[in-house]
Order: sequence, then C-alpha cells, then structure tokens
Amino acid sequence: MTGFTRADALALDAADELAAARARFVLPEGEIYLDGNSLGALPRATAERLRHVVEAEWGRDLIRSWNTAGWIDLPQRVGDKIGRLVGAAPGQVVVADSTSVNLFKALSAALRLRPERRVILTERSNFPTDLYVAQGVIEQLGGRHELRLVGRDDVAGAIGPDTAVVMLTHVDYRTGAMHDMAGVTAAAHAHGALMLWDLAHSAGAMPVDLDGCGADFAVGCGYKYLNGGPGAPAFLYVAWRHQEAFRQPLTGWMGHAEPFAFGTDYRPAEGIRRALCGTPPVLSLAALEVGVDELLAVDLHAVRRKSLAMTGLFRRLVAGLGLEAVGPEDPRACGSQVSLRHPQGYAIVQALIARGIVGDFRAPDILRFGFAPLYLRFVDVWGAAAALADVLETGAWDRPEFHRRHAVT
Ligand SMILES: *Cc1c(COP(=O)(O)O)cnc(C)c1O
Repeated sequence: MTGFTRADALALDAADELAAARARFVLPEGEIYLDGNSLGALPRATAERLRHVVEAEWGRDLIRSWNTAGWIDLPQRVGDKIGRLVGAAPGQVVVADSTSVNLFKALSAALRLRPERRVILTERSNFPTDLYVAQGVIEQLGGRHELRLVGRDDVAGAIGPDTAVVMLTHVDYRTGAMHDMAGVTAAAHAHGALMLWDLAHSAGAMPVDLDGCGADFAVGCGYKYLNGGPGAPAFLYVAWRHQEAFRQPLTGWMGHAEPFAFGTDYRPAEGIRRALCGTPPVLSLAALEVGVDELLAVDLHAVRRKSLAMTGLFRRLVAGLGLEAVGPEDPRACGSQVSLRHPQGYAIVQALIARGIVGDFRAPDILRFGFAPLYLRFVDVWGAAAALADVLETGAWDRPEFHRRHAVT
C-alpha cells in the first residue's frame, strides 16, 4: 500500500460533508459494506414507516387507505421523487414492477414507435436480463427484429438507419465504465433512433439528467443505490413527448384511463399512468420512498464528489497488489464502484466476506466493490484495502470453504 494511513482516512472523514448521513442507516457493527450497488443498506426510518403502514394504514384503516393514505398515488408520487434524482420533471416517472418488466414495456413501446426499423442495438456486455428481455420482446413480435450486439466502443458507430432503439446500461455492472449519456443519446437521435437507458447503477449514485440529455426512455432499480430494500419495485421514465403514443403490451387495469369504471375494453390512461399494469406493491413502495427521501435530503453533486474521492482512493491503495484494474482508469469515467480482476476472485471475495468486508464477485474473475457515499466512510475504504492486501499477501483466501460456490454470488 501507499504511505496513506488510517489516520489520513479519519482526517478525510472529519472533513466529509456527507458524514452525518451514515447515522441514518442501519449498518452491522464491525462490517464494511461494499455492496450497496447490489442491495442498498437499510435506512433507520424504514422500519418505523413500515410499522405505520402495516399497523395503521393496513391494520386499522384497511381498504380505505387506498384513498385516505394515498396508496393509489404511490407509483406516481414516488416516481416523481425519483424523477428529481434522475433529472426528470414531474409526470414522467412511475414506480412499478421490476427493472426487467419495465424494460419489456419500454422496449416494446419503443419498437412500435419505429415500425419501419428492425434493430435493437446494445452492448454485448450489457447486463444479462436486459439482453434476455430484448430477446423475449423480439419473439413476442414475431421475430421480425434483430438484437444487434456490439462492443462497448463500437456502439455510436453502429447506430444507423435501421436502428429502432439503442438500449444501454449507463454504468456497466461489471467494469463500472460509464457512457456519455448526452453524447450517445444525441448520436441515436441523429440517426432517428430512440434511446433507452438502464440506470440500475446510476440512480442515487450520481446526478443524472434524463430531460437535459433528451433521453426517450429509462428504467432503473429500487433496491441498489436507492436503498428501497430487497426486491423493491423499479422505475420507468417515459419522456413527455412520447407519452401520447406510448403503447405498452402489459395492458392491465391500473394503466387504464378509468380503472374503476370496470369497462370491457382497454383504454390507456393519460400520461405516465399508462405505463402501469397491476396493483401497486404498497409495502414495498413505502419502503422505497424512505430510501429515496434519504437521497433527496442530500446534494447528489456532493454524493458524486465523495464517490469519486472514495473510488480514487481505493484504486490507489490497491494499485500495487497484483490485481488487474478493470474499466477506465479515470474514476470520472466510472460509476461508484471499483472492479478488479484475479483468477481466484471468487475465493478472495469469500475470504474478505469472512472478515466482514462485503463486496461481490462477478463471473468469471471480477471482484467488485461498490462505494455508497451516503453510509461509507473513508476509514472503511482504508480498512477494505488493508484487508484485501492481507488476504492476498498471506494467501488466506486459499481455503476449501472459500472455494465453495453459493447460489447467489
Ligand atoms: C440489477 C440490474 C437489473 C435488475 O433487474 P431486476 O428486474 O430488478 O432483477 C437490471 N439491469 C441492470 C443493468 C442491473 O444492474
């Protein structure tokens, strides 16, 4: 490691403008949690909010709460709040379903808006569910379309007159590499294609400006940097200008113009509500709202500044350990994670977890460390780097129990 000491890390924490936010989260004693990009930590306020929703709204007021507690408006209310985090003016974001399902809706709608074009363009290394969903959409539409997979650096050059939609994940889940959202969106539009962003590893980790970039559609996760809890519902953004023509295939009653008229024929609601399908998951939405409120209470530019300082520090601290750095060298070209490559990555991550340093492993050989600025300290960055150095130098990872594979990695 470099000459940077634990005392230096503590000095950075003392000067940290976001330091107070940590106390708003429940974090296990003695653990360094570097997996907020897979499952965000639990906000302290969540249990109390859920207790209220369960005991008072559900337990006491029962079905009245759809009106009196505003349950029916939660998808849009929380959607508008997430909109503030991702640069979307009100009325363009709803919370519903999972990221995968929202991708299905958005991709299907996008292809309908470009009926004369047949290509969905994406990266070969995109997150698997994004690719699988695109394959399912194509099958549903009779196989007339093509999912064209290109290398990361070839995306802009591959957009052409046959491209209906460019579908990209803003921050690569494996490498952390971040696309130039404004630039790629402009390139798609220059060729008449639509742009769909997956913000799974961006929302809540940095400022995002969907409206400013002119994005057409976006989706993102509730349980990662938004701290909405395991399986939290996801969000879907449809830009104003597309809402009237937006037709998605999951035509359930909650997306109907008059759900409680109980008519026979589907008629889409005005505006973003037509992106909904069925009954909103009220408990999950309540938990997600708490996580989103925690982010709205801070300045996302400060979040990004701290994220860059943390990822930059971690990279410097582990630079001499013989691990290959993955993704762009410049932290500003990355999201809030650091990825390193090692053939024994799985066992090394397990050995770290056994010491209370929780990162994760992404096949085939990537150690991934997420830095959620709201609840991580610089001393945690230092501690994680020191533990990684020790695990490597002592060979502590090479024990049978660290090689055993679990169902979820
Ligand atoms: C985490 C993640 C998802 C998750 O989708 P779910 O439907 O919530 O399982 C989708 N896309 C990307 C890029 C992700 O990182």
